Amino acid sequence: MQAYFFDMDGVLFDSMPSHAEAWVEVMHRHNLPITYREVFINEGRTGRSVIDECYRNAFGTEAPDGLWQQIYREKGRLFESKGEPATIGGVHEVLRFLKSKGKQIWIVTGSAQQSLFSRLDTCFPGIFTRERMITAYDVEHGKPAPDPYLAAWKRSGIEKSHCAVIENAPLGVRSAKAAGLFCMAVNTGILTLDDLAREHADIVFNDMHELLTFMQVADHIETHILPLYQNFDSGHNLSHARAVMNTSLQLASALRLYAAADGDSIKGFCCPVGGTRAALLAYTIAAYHDIGLSVDREHHHLNSGKMLRADRQLRHWFTDDEIELMACAAEDHRASAKQPPRTIFGAIVADADRDLNVTTVIRRALQYGIDRYPELSDDEHCRRAADHLQDKYSASGYMHLWLNDPQQTLQQQQLQLLISNPTELLKTTQQVMTSLKH
Ligand code: CA
Repeated sequence: MQAYFFDMDGVLFDSMPSHAEAWVEVMHRHNLPITYREVFINEGRTGRSVIDECYRNAFGTEAPDGLWQQIYREKGRLFESKGEPATIGGVHEVLRFLKSKGKQIWIVTGSAQQSLFSRLDTCFPGIFTRERMITAYDVEHGKPAPDPYLAAWKRSGIEKSHCAVIENAPLGVRSAKAAGLFCMAVNTGILTLDDLAREHADIVFNDMHELLTFMQVADHIETHILPLYQNFDSGHNLSHARAVMNTSLQLASALRLYAAADGDSIKGFCCPVGGTRAALLAYTIAAYHDIGLSVDREHHHLNSGKMLRADRQLRHWFTDDEIELMACAAEDHRASAKQPPRTIFGAIVADADRDLNVTTVIRRALQYGIDRYPELSDDEHCRRAADHLQDKYSASGYMHLWLNDPQQTLQQQQLQLLISNPTELLKTTQQVMTSLKH
């Protein structure tokens, strides 16, 4: 990651309790009931849209001009009267870490609260600049629309896949995901992790210390582990590793591992480590799962496990038991394995490794053949790839899905439908072959 987009309220400043108290008090004054939790759920919306919605609930129409401005001014004054909010615990360490790594650090907020902007320099000296700030004044449509994060991304000049968002609010997560960005959600308020995961946050944390650990592990992976994939064949390259890392996080979230306790059984697999820690493990396993290819192909899964165990850097962040658990999961990822994975983590990396998109599967099979058997003709390559698909992915093939994720199951069915029609399969393979040559 090269650029980090930080939300402000609830991420930098512990300002949400004061905001919530001010909203509840002012709205009550105007006979527009709103609860403390509703303020947290609505966090990220503009003041006007919060007022409009409450007004609509009470009177069936939007708040008249004049009134909403008055309510918003009252709320702003009341917020100020509650004193300066503290910064969120652990966020200084996160910012210092990113600064030391030379990353771009941005603020992306729906706020128009001048008092907080002017405190940024005092509280976070040398971190933020006005040029790297998107506020209520910069975009017409605020969160949950994607506009604020899209604006930051465009100005950053960094590729989307190298940008990440740090959010604390469900609507902020929705905005980040609608903008197509990787989103890390830190639950700094009164909501549940579910409230954030439901909006498809890529990973959820209980606090900034967990976020910092994730960033440190991710930095180690980016710097020392992912470059290994540059030397592998095109079916096991960097984009394959990144896809497995992303799918592993999606599966961990869909399985609600963040809500699991250590030792729970999930889909018949033991989950020795649950909670937010589980996603960190799934992510790390995915990053290491194929590095054994740097030794050989036949035993690469075992060598990936060995190399993970031997990486002393991991001892900064993981216990011996966690390292052993991750190494075993990497060993269990092999599609041709006869035994089921030993833990949920093995099942996650095994399933995440199965990219079942029809075109991708055929392309990978063709590329493997082209790398391995350069003497074959195009036609022979197509037949070899079609045979391989038959062996591996047909209803009687050797590939299993362990977790039956609905999206993956659907893709598997589409693939099997194609495989069950040999003429159609060969035709599709030839089409992919043609596209590879252009
Ligand atoms: Ca926020």
